[in-house]
Amino acid sequence: MAAAADREVPSALCSEFLNFSAKDTAAKWLQVSDLPREVYQHLARYVPQIYCQGPNLNPQSEELLAQLLLQSPLEWYLCGEDPSTGLAKLEQNNQPSQLCGHVFKVGEPTYSCRECAADPTCVLCMQCFLGSVHKEHRYRMTTSGGGGFCDCGDTEAWKEGSYCQKHEPNISDSSQEDPLAHLSADMIARTYNVFSIVLKYAVDMLTWEKEDELPQGLEPPERADTFYCMLFNDEVHTYEQVIYTLQKAVSCTQKEAVSFATTVDRDGRKSVRYGDFQFCEQAKSIIVRNTSRQSKPLRVQVMHSSVVAHQCFALKALNWMGHIIRHSDALRRILCQVGLQKGPEGEDSMVDTFMLCDSKMWKGARNVYHQLLMSSLLMDLKYKKLFAIQFAKNYRHLQTDFMEDDHERLVSITSLSVQLFTVPTMARMLITEENLMTTIIRTFVDHLRHRDLQGRFQFERYTAQQAFKFRRVQSLIGDLKYVLISRPTEWSDKLREKFLEGLDAFLELLKCMQGMDPVVRQVGQHIEMEPEWEAAFTLQMKLTHIISMIQEWCASDEPVLIEAYRKCLSILTHCHSGFTDGEQPITLSMCGHSVDTIRYCVSQEKVSIHLPVSRLLAGLHVLLSKTEVAYRFPEQLPLSELSPPMLIEHPLRCLVLCAQVHAGMWRRNGFSLVNQIYYYHNVKCRVEMFDKDLIMLQAGASMMDPNHFLMIMLSRFELFHIFSSLDGRKRYSRENANKDVVQQNNTLIEEMLHLIIMVVGERFVAGIGQVHPCDEIKREVIHQLCIRPMAHSELVKALPENENKETGMESVIDSVASFKKPGVTGRGLYELRPVCAKQFNLYFHHYSRADQSKAEEAQRKLKRQHGEDTALPPPVLPQYCPLFASLVNLLQCDVLLSILGTVLQWAVEPSGGHWSESMLQRVLHLTGMALLEEHQQLENSEEEATFNFTLKISRPGEAPSNSASILALLETLQNAPHLEVHKDTIRWILKTVASIKTMRERTVTTPVADHGGQSQEETVRDKDKAERKRKAEMARLRREKIMAQMSEMQRHFINENKELFQQTSLDELEASTSTSAEHSPTSADAALVCVGPRRTRVCERKQVVTCILCQEEQEIRPDGRAMVLAAFVQRSTVMSKNRHRPPPDPEKYDPLYMHPDLSIGTHTGSCGHIMHSHCWQRYFEAVQAKEQRRQQRLRVHTSYDVENGEFLCPLCECLSNTVIPLLPLKKTSSSCEQPTLAPWLKTIGQQVRALQAAHRKAKPISAECVDTESEPDCPVPEGFRLDHTPMSPYSDTIKEMLTTFGTATYKVGLKVHPNEQDPRVPILCWGSCAYTIQSIERLLLDEEKPLFGSLPCRQDDCLSSLVRFGSACWTAGCLSTVQTHFIRLLAALVPDPEVKSSPCILDVDMFHLLVSLVLSYSSVHCLDGSGVSVDVTQLHFLHLVTVAHMVQILLTSVPVETTMEQESDEADKEEEEAVCRLYNTLRTHLGSALCDVSSGWHLWHCVKAGILPYLRATALFFHHLNGVPTPPELHVLGPGQWEALCGYLHLPCNLLQLFYIHQDLLEPLLQGWCSHPDVKQCLQGSGTLISFPRESNQLIELPDDYSALINQASSFTCPKSGVDKSRAPTLCLVCGAMLCSQSYCCQTELDGEKEEVGACTAHTFACGAGVGIFLRVRESQVLFLAGKTKGCFYAPPYLDDYGETDQGLRRGNPLHLCRERYRKIQKLWRQHSITEEIGHAQEANQTLVGIDWQHL
Ligand SMILES: [Zn+2]
Ligand SMILES: [Zn+2]
Ligand SMILES: [Zn+2]
Ligand SMILES: [Zn+2]
Ligand SMILES: [Zn+2]
Ligand SMILES: [Zn+2]
Ligand SMILES: [Zn+2]
Repeated sequence: MAAAADREVPSALCSEFLNFSAKDTAAKWLQVSDLPREVYQHLARYVPQIYCQGPNLNPQSEELLAQLLLQSPLEWYLCGEDPSTGLAKLEQNNQPSQLCGHVFKVGEPTYSCRECAADPTCVLCMQCFLGSVHKEHRYRMTTSGGGGFCDCGDTEAWKEGSYCQKHEPNISDSSQEDPLAHLSADMIARTYNVFSIVLKYAVDMLTWEKEDELPQGLEPPERADTFYCMLFNDEVHTYEQVIYTLQKAVSCTQKEAVSFATTVDRDGRKSVRYGDFQFCEQAKSIIVRNTSRQSKPLRVQVMHSSVVAHQCFALKALNWMGHIIRHSDALRRILCQVGLQKGPEGEDSMVDTFMLCDSKMWKGARNVYHQLLMSSLLMDLKYKKLFAIQFAKNYRHLQTDFMEDDHERLVSITSLSVQLFTVPTMARMLITEENLMTTIIRTFVDHLRHRDLQGRFQFERYTAQQAFKFRRVQSLIGDLKYVLISRPTEWSDKLREKFLEGLDAFLELLKCMQGMDPVVRQVGQHIEMEPEWEAAFTLQMKLTHIISMIQEWCASDEPVLIEAYRKCLSILTHCHSGFTDGEQPITLSMCGHSVDTIRYCVSQEKVSIHLPVSRLLAGLHVLLSKTEVAYRFPEQLPLSELSPPMLIEHPLRCLVLCAQVHAGMWRRNGFSLVNQIYYYHNVKCRVEMFDKDLIMLQAGASMMDPNHFLMIMLSRFELFHIFSSLDGRKRYSRENANKDVVQQNNTLIEEMLHLIIMVVGERFVAGIGQVHPCDEIKREVIHQLCIRPMAHSELVKALPENENKETGMESVIDSVASFKKPGVTGRGLYELRPVCAKQFNLYFHHYSRADQSKAEEAQRKLKRQHGEDTALPPPVLPQYCPLFASLVNLLQCDVLLSILGTVLQWAVEPSGGHWSESMLQRVLHLTGMALLEEHQQLENSEEEATFNFTLKISRPGEAPSNSASILALLETLQNAPHLEVHKDTIRWILKTVASIKTMRERTVTTPVADHGGQSQEETVRDKDKAERKRKAEMARLRREKIMAQMSEMQRHFINENKELFQQTSLDELEASTSTSAEHSPTSADAALVCVGPRRTRVCERKQVVTCILCQEEQEIRPDGRAMVLAAFVQRSTVMSKNRHRPPPDPEKYDPLYMHPDLSIGTHTGSCGHIMHSHCWQRYFEAVQAKEQRRQQRLRVHTSYDVENGEFLCPLCECLSNTVIPLLPLKKTSSSCEQPTLAPWLKTIGQQVRALQAAHRKAKPISAECVDTESEPDCPVPEGFRLDHTPMSPYSDTIKEMLTTFGTATYKVGLKVHPNEQDPRVPILCWGSCAYTIQSIERLLLDEEKPLFGSLPCRQDDCLSSLVRFGSACWTAGCLSTVQTHFIRLLAALVPDPEVKSSPCILDVDMFHLLVSLVLSYSSVHCLDGSGVSVDVTQLHFLHLVTVAHMVQILLTSVPVETTMEQESDEADKEEEEAVCRLYNTLRTHLGSALCDVSSGWHLWHCVKAGILPYLRATALFFHHLNGVPTPPELHVLGPGQWEALCGYLHLPCNLLQLFYIHQDLLEPLLQGWCSHPDVKQCLQGSGTLISFPRESNQLIELPDDYSALINQASSFTCPKSGVDKSRAPTLCLVCGAMLCSQSYCCQTELDGEKEEVGACTAHTFACGAGVGIFLRVRESQVLFLAGKTKGCFYAPPYLDDYGETDQGLRRGNPLHLCRERYRKIQKLWRQHSITEEIGHAQEANQTLVGIDWQHL
């Protein structure tokens, strides 16, 4: 851009431009006769001079000049006066459109009302939604994919509340008024002229295809040899390919190439080179050559600059018109007229021309003219209609173009269909006037050309190209759906005619699907190639809603319904004529009935799952019944043409196929068949597949003799021979010795019985049974909840959605279920109301076998819990509609009774496994159904019931078999020992039989056949007893055997999981030891003190731990084998008070003093698992080796980075990157001599000076230190042995581990390569120790937990080892280095002339200072032989640092308005006075830099509050360092904490005494601190002043309503490009920054690394030291990132009203913030557990490992 702005406009042009007058030009135009020619000349002259003067298109100066020279004269002409006044006048008369018409940006939230929207495409923008009634309704929220507009104000889009407050029409307005009425004729004419010329120009230029010529009248006066090499977008080549090619072809940098590629993707084209023809042609050929290898090459054109210039201006001109018409509805109307006007000889209108050339234009041009169409034609209700007609006329052409076009649909003109077709009146008008329904269907069918010999679709061996087309062609189904989505309330004859014509076309389509993809059972060999099946199912799935909608259209008009039924039947007959021939007729006989049918075996011949014609007919048949047309106009129905056996034939085959697949007979046909069967029953397809097949069987059976129906069924199931013979069972078992066949037949019998249950029992569709439509959905919900309680979304998934994506569940759910709210995890659940349980039907037709067994188990369990018997009898069913009424006779027909009898007989004499319990269960269920039917009839009908099942089952079989009656068999079975499970059911049946008999007896006394004598019954009982005994014995033996097996297995398990079992005991051990240590002070009476000479002495205890790897016990001893804790060290900014501090340069950074803003620290955590160091080393080496092998084999990442020292704890799989050695408590000698502050300071000073001298001597003499020799030797204090070399008390392995952990902390803390020699190693260790303690102190405070006793064991262990390590780490390094650190640390408090550049006390975190001082002092103390104990020194350090911290707090305390003087306790008076005095002393040193605070209460309050965190952290530190038990007061929350804390630290409660007791010594120090030049600077406000206590950091505040976030994100533009909408706006929850994630535009390089990373990863390093917590706004998903390779998704803290999250925003329910869940995320962050969480997520879900997190 910069280059373009600098470009100098040639001076000749300049003067010409300056002299130009828009007014004069417009005046001239008013005079001319041929205005178009004149304007074209003007454009021909100026456009090439303004646009495209160099390599960069669209610089700002072009805008300016175009406005001045091109648009301005047009505006003058149009207005006839100064445009600013002219347009203002127009605006006065403007009638704003009642339509909102807001065009959605990508990612903007859209709202639809689930109660009021005509269809789901009706949406509102956020503004309109908030001002509408729907915000109180049940609404749906989605993010727009771009395009489309707000439907506010469209009365057809909303059932109510069509207008928001803003678009509410003014009642006085007469919207009928012609908008042109206010305009003068002149004005109209001028506008007309301008618009037609400009629009013509735009059409000419944008549809222009020549590269080097211009349309007539636009030829430039002079022609330069300047060209552009223009690169066009396609959807074939990837970003990477384009970027790579461009770098080669036009030798640009990668950055430039990325920018080119981004623009090409966005605008559809971009010039990549400017110059003479040769120059551009060269680039073109390289690009073409490089991209033509695998696919068609990228499209590149070398275009003359004047052509490009005119195209640029043409776009500008379209935008200009869009802008002008915003001022006036009249102008908009004129533009519409101009656009749609046909040419004088009937040529296409200009809008037509645009549309017809749509697919040839580039993306940017399309977008611009689509926008203009939306703001003009679609905003004018009159012209919207006219435009819709043109669109429909061109429909076939446009769609055909679209098939060839490789751009996405969003930028195709065809995507406008949603705006036009969803308006109900418009859709109906287009159907009647333009025959749109037929057009769409025909166009669709035409594009699916592949047929087999019978004319059916064939998708086998589709090429990629065809598959692509197939996807495109599916958008036509979407259009058809729009057209049909609102059903007519009134029918005209014309509509009937056109709809039926459309139906004809649709039936032709279905005919091509009937019987497609047929399958044949594979025997012997497995199929070689899985056949293609998905295309056919996709088609079926897409058409599902269309088929349903067509049925609903038919249902709304009786003549149409009858005609549709006729048509459908005739097509079906036609299909079948060529479908069933060649099959042999046979006659079946059974139970004295016989039927003619054909010989056909599903297992041997072709069978297809696709039967849409049959199923449509089934649907229409139900409608005939439901709308009662069948009873009112039976004469009009083609009932005589119906052949029930023909109707049921194919659906039955399909159902038998399913049964056979279940029975395992089709295993060799592979997975494609299994998948097809799955989808056939799946909720997405079943409505128009399985459900309708069942209905067709019901329809057929209701018109047939039930015996005939069942015989045909037996025959198709290939079971006829088993049941037809007189002694079926015996023959059956003889014939089929083959076990597999027996098993298959058993399953088939089960399936068949199930099918009979469904045919008789499924009556919940309105039209089949006498039910209300909502009963069907109620029943679905009940049966889902019978399986288990379910979340809202699970229920929605289990229910079929209609075309409006509604399940209808909301209207019934509360009547059948109660809602249980979710906790912090999990989701809200619906539970079935107990009263509904009795509607449970075990053979519910939508249950899968798995569902069925789960539901059975759940229901039985429930019954047991309520102490009921466990019978699950069939529920009472609604009545059939008359058309289906005869179906009940199936239950009492001879064939069924014979089947029931046979199965019962088998059950009575079980042998050979030729029957199954499932079979029996189904038979019992059928018996129960029949009994209930009879019971109901008896109850309902006054006359005698025709249904007499009880009579029939009481009759014994006829001669010659003379089998027992069904009832007798049942009674036998009741006592059968092997049927324990079914006894309750059988008992229930017998009870029902008895009650029916009494009912009958009450009316008529029918003699009942006597069955079974007394004696017979008795013997049965005896036999039963014996059998029972035998069985109990068997069961006992079996149980024993199982127990033996179990214990064997358990032993095995323990062996294999040894460490797990060992660990449990270890944990218990640890817990017990730590509690005993905590609560057993040596003397119970003495107050516990953790520091100083009065420190409570702890007796030494042996500490023994167990290695989790080798299970050996080991005592912790300095000279013993090293034991280590798995640990994870990470950088942290969790406590940062300054996120803007630039990250330090790792090489030069001096970390000795921590700044009080704690901007970056090093945190150490551990899972607490202990290993031998050598065991760990072996383990780690094994992990490394395994990883190397794995990397060689396949390039997979793991959740941990071995090269960086990471591993998973071998026990708990917690991510770790180092180990901490466990060290014993230090032995300390108590000494009698306890110097007070003054002598101690003196001694320390002497020691320091002696050390400094010694260090100087040791150093090689450099130029700067020439005069060191001359310095007098300082006196070495008594007992200080400078020459002493202390021996490390530790064993070699411990020493090694000290180095390991020190180096790891150094490496991570500074982000450098490991270097154990670096002097900063110990500093980082002390720092990590201090930082970790501080962060734990914060955490305890935030969680409102007591300071001691509430930490988990693992954290306690980690802190102890960390602190003890800190005090020992000096032994691993260079002694003088550590001494130097100590000297410098001390100098921050006690001025030392030899230490240069000590920080001012405002720049030092006092806790870090204290910890470092104490831990580094060991390096000095080891030389001290005087016998002064470390305890004294620790206490003096504590006092000094505490005083310094108080001063720090006073200096930074924020003055408050002291209007309210607090009454203070008498006790506090002393403190207040003292603190006032100290403050005033400080003021004397600092003067005006410190403001005047007179309130002692306020100051003391500040000090107390400010110092508390420090004191708490200090207590934690000394507790772990010295191992002193903690006072019980600190194990609870409550009053007295301050006193307890001070006591434990051996500090006076009045801390100021620390100062005043040694005022003489401390006063000079104080003065020194205040005189540091930085103090004044700090106080006067340079840099951030940290005040105390530092507040805990929180994650950012989130809005309660999620749509507020979406809206915020939708207006967020990519910060790099400045204009583009970000595709994946992502919010940093730590600092609130919005980022443009997952996009090329915002990739950056991290410091010193070549690889580019995405915006989120880059941000984690700036904001969270490598750890980040984000919210992906479009996805409603929390993202955790750590480093560059780790990440995981986490449930967002937003829930819908059903207590569920909506990751991916797929469901669109309104979402609200759940504070508990957000707090949980915050806790993870504060605990430094994000990385650990990622590790666990990745271990649990390996796909997370493969994601390129660094690109997010
Ligand atoms: Zn709106
Ligand atoms: Zn509105
Ligand atoms: Zn509503
Ligand atoms: Zn071990
Ligand atoms: Zn562990
Ligand atoms: Zn970006
Ligand atoms: Zn951030």
